[in-house]
Amino acid sequence: MKEPASSRSAGAVDLLIVGGGINGAGIARDAAGRGLSVMLVEQDDLASHTSSASTKLVHGGLRYLETYDFRLVRESLIERETLLAIAPHIIRPLAFVLPHAGGLRPAWMIRLGLFLYDHIGGRRRLPGSFGVRLGGQGYGEGLDPAIGRGFVYADCRVDDARLVVLNALDAAANGAAIRTRTRLASARREGAEWRAALLDTVSGEVTEIAARAIVNAAGPWVGAMLGRIEPAAPHPEPRLVKGSHIIVPRRFGGEHAFILQNPDGRVLFMIPYEEDFTLIGTTDIPWRGDPSAPSIGDEEIAYLCAGVNRYLAHPIGPRDVVHSYSGIRALHDDGAASASRVTRDYLLRLDADPGGPPLLSVFGGKITTYRRLAEEALEKAIGPAASRPPSSTGSCAAGPSCLRMSRSASPAPMARGSGS
Ligand SMILES: Cc1cc2nc3c(=O)[nH]c(=O)nc-3n(C[C@H](O)[C@H](O)[C@H](O)COP(=O)(O)OP(=O)(O)OC[C@H]3O[C@@H](n4cnc5c(N)ncnc54)[C@H](O)[C@@H]3O)c2cc1C
Repeated sequence: MKEPASSRSAGAVDLLIVGGGINGAGIARDAAGRGLSVMLVEQDDLASHTSSASTKLVHGGLRYLETYDFRLVRESLIERETLLAIAPHIIRPLAFVLPHAGGLRPAWMIRLGLFLYDHIGGRRRLPGSFGVRLGGQGYGEGLDPAIGRGFVYADCRVDDARLVVLNALDAAANGAAIRTRTRLASARREGAEWRAALLDTVSGEVTEIAARAIVNAAGPWVGAMLGRIEPAAPHPEPRLVKGSHIIVPRRFGGEHAFILQNPDGRVLFMIPYEEDFTLIGTTDIPWRGDPSAPSIGDEEIAYLCAGVNRYLAHPIGPRDVVHSYSGIRALHDDGAASASRVTRDYLLRLDADPGGPPLLSVFGGKITTYRRLAEEALEKAIGPAASRPPSSTGSCAAGPSCLRMSRSASPAPMARGSGS
């Protein structure tokens, strides 16, 4: 006979992680590799929210140099090198063409930005930036031929959802329990431990688990998650910002992407997508309400079309859109006036009474920086145990080669020269 739902116990773990996006999965992998007992709970499926709705770039974020986020850019560029080394089968070099547009950022400013981008992040595997002639040919094919020149620099693209799954698989290989369709319903402190109630969202069954620490990597639900904690404590609300992409039939040849300056100071990306398509994004729209199923608005489609039409030889319109997707950024609110200026850096907030079990909440972050975030999160949440060496299973904590699936999958070199 089935036990009464609320009386079942799922045992005890060192670390209970809430959220199966890139941050939760990355922390699970790192923690399990260090020999901690770990359970990750995800209310839906792995990577079913923000971590599969990104622009799919592993990048330093050229634009963040303008907001003086040098630490973030440097850390991201260093991580770009590491990720390219450990997962070359799902992270690939991508050339970005930045057409020079009159009346926007002057050429000297772009050159300076690219010089910094080339040099502050220990670049080893990717080529440096250079200037190019466009004029509707080579790297300029598909663009208005009146755009005469531009710049080319290197970044990387990633299969974002697969990166999450690979981290979860590696965590599981090191003993972590990965529970999808499982929601943390509530958690309360009892002495030095947490007692958490986990709801199986398919069967409705509730189990209880004890944990030495909880990591709240619930992405857009990070604030809602804090509302499930007893006793309740005051906490900052994240700044939720929707970002949308459209997909249209392919607009240009070659394997490179474009980064396009917009008159509002933002940049838009145009990236080759699935052979026959072009991915265009993104927007920054303040978001209130349920983060579970955001969708693109007509004004976002109009904004993205207008943004790329400033550069394309043949303009696009809403009728060309074959698909779209939207995600919610849960940013650390730094008080910036506009959504696009809010920092993309992460903030780790630790709540711990003396002698009580810690709760660590993740605000913000990027796919690119998930490994560093995981390391810092563990140091904060677990303390000295985080410096334990990797387990004796032969896998490393977060070091090179863990995500490499095949020895033959080495990164393709990025061609320099014409855009084909
Ligand atoms: C439009 C857009 C473009 C972006 N582009 C890039 C890019 O190109 N490169 C880059 O580096 N970064 C990019 N980012 C940022 C990056 O996507 C996010 O920082 C990252 O995916 C956040 O991951 P996460 O794990 O924190 O959140 P999520 O992926 O949202 O994961 C959180 C998970 O927690 C689960 N959860 C919530 N509450 C509970 C609960 N009570 N119990 C159990 N589970 C729960 C949710 O179901 C969810 O799956 C982009 C973001 C957006 C929105």
